[in-house]
Amino acid sequence: MPPRAVAGPEIERLIQLLGKLPGLGPRSARRAALALVKRRESLMEPLSAALTRAVETVRVCSECGNVDSRDPCTICTDATRDASLIIVVEDVSDLWALERAGAVSARYHVLGGTLSALDGIGPSDLNIESLIRRASDPAVKEVIIAVNATVDGQTTAHYLTEQLAACHVAVSRLAHGVPVGGELDYLDEGTLTAAIRQRRPF
Ligand code: ZN
Repeated sequence: MPPRAVAGPEIERLIQLLGKLPGLGPRSARRAALALVKRRESLMEPLSAALTRAVETVRVCSECGNVDSRDPCTICTDATRDASLIIVVEDVSDLWALERAGAVSARYHVLGGTLSALDGIGPSDLNIESLIRRASDPAVKEVIIAVNATVDGQTTAHYLTEQLAACHVAVSRLAHGVPVGGELDYLDEGTLTAAIRQRRPF
């Protein structure tokens, strides 16, 4: 006999959706749903309003691929940042990690993943064309390829280096200290800062 539903469809739906979030399994999703229901005014209503507002306002930056409530994003429009330096990352989470570390005041370019023969992800599936366009701007002097040290990440880095060769920019990569297969998001701030400062030419 299948387990009987213990709550109405609205709560079941809430549990189902919460369970799709990273890090939340079915048990955590049930606990989160219950916490929301119990804290209706202090948690569920503000969260609902914040979600609605985010749905209305959050967009992808047409310049760099970052997420923000404005396009171009806060980073792209920040005149105090070094416009000669672009840091290429796989995902917005990597951009956030580098910003938390405060290693360098640059602009970013979010690829949206890595090349992967296994998953059928080719150059046209990533934000590479826009990177080449940005790197061709004479104001840009250096591109740091800060992709993860995975096999796919390194394949992507080599491909980008070839593509950037015509752009007359210095291309560098993070120093050792980024563990193989390690994701930038999991590195502590000191390690990230050192990896950026001790970057090496590709
Ligand atoms: Zn941007």
